[in-house]
Amino acid sequence: MTRKHNFGAGPGILPESALKQAAQAVLDFNGSGMSILEISHRSKDFDAVMDKTKSLVRELLGVPEGYSILFLQGGASTQFAMVPMNCLHTKAAYVDSGVWANKAIKEAKLFGPVDVIASSKDQNYSHVPKGYSIPNDCDYLHITSNNTIYGTQIKEFPNSPIPVVCDMSSDIFSRPVDVSKFDLIYAGAQKNMGPAGVTLVIVRDGFLKEQSRVVPTMLNYKTHIEGDSLYNTPPVFAIYVCMLTLEWLKSIGGLKAIEAMNRAKADLFYGEVDSNPLFTGTCATEDRSSMNACFLLKDSSQDEAFLRMAKEAGIIGIKGHRSVGGFRASMYNALPIESVQSLTGLMKEFALKTA
Ligand SMILES: *Cc1c(COP(=O)(O)O)cnc(C)c1O
Repeated sequence: MTRKHNFGAGPGILPESALKQAAQAVLDFNGSGMSILEISHRSKDFDAVMDKTKSLVRELLGVPEGYSILFLQGGASTQFAMVPMNCLHTKAAYVDSGVWANKAIKEAKLFGPVDVIASSKDQNYSHVPKGYSIPNDCDYLHITSNNTIYGTQIKEFPNSPIPVVCDMSSDIFSRPVDVSKFDLIYAGAQKNMGPAGVTLVIVRDGFLKEQSRVVPTMLNYKTHIEGDSLYNTPPVFAIYVCMLTLEWLKSIGGLKAIEAMNRAKADLFYGEVDSNPLFTGTCATEDRSSMNACFLLKDSSQDEAFLRMAKEAGIIGIKGHRSVGGFRASMYNALPIESVQSLTGLMKEFALKTA
């Protein structure tokens, strides 16, 4: 099997070692004579998977005491609603840094007043809003660490007088973060952590106050804290593959090591975008994401030709999101630097051909 150079934005590339172990476990999980797809979520075998996955999250991210780690369903999009449903009591502050942030705002407004304290919408989200002041009278501030669609990323998190909630769907585990600065972190697994079907939530227990409204059982964080993410049937296989992916991440040196590797890939890629006469980046240089790099051909009539050449070279997933156009190279943890070298090589070749 030859693997493609997978620059897809999500579901994203996973480490080959994790895929191989997952494939084996689909046939026979740990010599149990049963598939991972068949085992009970209340079995000892799955207890071990859950414990291991949780402890890897704790260890890799350095999650302090007093935080619960939950594996939920419904994607990050369900968190857009669950956060305000559980935590918006008087008013909430949101930073509008892209389409996903905007969707979070839309859901929050269903539950109470929302103060959109900063936005880069009028510049098609080409930079991360900065330098805004955070009101004291809100229950929480909601930010998005990495704007998957626009290729912008927060490099320095704001110091906030109120609890911070962060959507880290597309850059969790890509770099060290100080979890103690956040009260709630959520991430759909399918960008940088595992397959689709599970959402990681890390929540500071003290952040969850008495409910100010009726919250359905399944949408109540306390249900899942008390039930240890086993209130109902969890996505067993998705959690298992997250465990394998996090084991891989630990084996290569954890978040400091992956941050250096991600930086090397990003430097290589943006270096080519900036030096190649045919291409240009789409967002503010200082906000460029190490996960999703958006770029354009200055002459967009060549887009199809470039995509065709990429496909022939086994490079897939680089077509840009419709709201930005052009191209997007997603360089998640598991993408080897050789794939970035193939893409930058192709860009060089394209420039020579076109010259
Ligand atoms: C992909 C993405 C989402 C949506 O995730 P789902 O799991 O599909 O609901 C939300 N926020 C960000 C930043 C994303 O990249």
